[in-house]
Amino acid sequence: MQTVLFTSTIFGPIHSRRLGTSLGVNLMPADGKVCSFDCLYCEAGFNAQGPGTKGIPPREEVARLLEEKLREMRAEDMPLDVITFSGNGEPTLHPDFNGVVDDVTRLRDRYYPEAKVSVLSNATRLRTGQVVEGLRKVDNNILKLDSAIDDTVNVIDRPVGKGYSVADVVEGMKQFDGQCIVQTMMLRGEHDGKTIDNTTDEEIEALIKAYKDINPREVMLYSIDRKTPAEQLVKVEREELEYIAERFRREGIRVAVS
Ligand code: SF4
Repeated sequence: MQTVLFTSTIFGPIHSRRLGTSLGVNLMPADGKVCSFDCLYCEAGFNAQGPGTKGIPPREEVARLLEEKLREMRAEDMPLDVITFSGNGEPTLHPDFNGVVDDVTRLRDRYYPEAKVSVLSNATRLRTGQVVEGLRKVDNNILKLDSAIDDTVNVIDRPVGKGYSVADVVEGMKQFDGQCIVQTMMLRGEHDGKTIDNTTDEEIEALIKAYKDINPREVMLYSIDRKTPAEQLVKVEREELEYIAERFRREGIRVAVS
């Protein structure tokens, strides 16, 4: 089985298609995966690999490791566009997410004031006050919505536990008053005998309605780029992503394709 992508708390810098030169902050264990989704396409592998033994890094350790890295990069005059919370799971599951955001923005201001701070979140924690508070402070609050139909989310993203509903998540996203970016992974394929396709007319229409409700700063459309843990997934090619993006744009939605 494919296992965790990142073996440290601070990783990179790496070149990201969507974000530029990005230094990663992995708030989940460096030797396991912890997420409130278990997406078929997750680059960090399935949750079944387990959480590992190292645990979630404490706030102070994240700040110390990040400062070490930023100091080193500055001394070598390395470029940096963005510091990105991502990694082996859902960053907002960190018990002190809001405090970590404060540390990261303070260190960004000190070492790379021109860089942005981005969070890639699956938007399952938008009922938790300290998470929302943290997300409000970052430059790019990037929230996942792969489908606006519950059954499809259950097949593609596989929320852990019960209680996920698109309606709740859309409500959660609305509280940012447009200060969020919605990210949607387009894909097709098959898994466990179920057909997967979030590019159908029904899916697109449901997404249009959700995007209009949320009114995000931007929608980011993308598709599979690396090996995925579920093997029978098919990438939606860029030309088709552009075609889908045009359908959204005709509805007045701002869309970027990457
Ligand atoms: S939300 Fe992100 S980290 Fe979690 S399973 Fe999905 S792709 Fe992986």
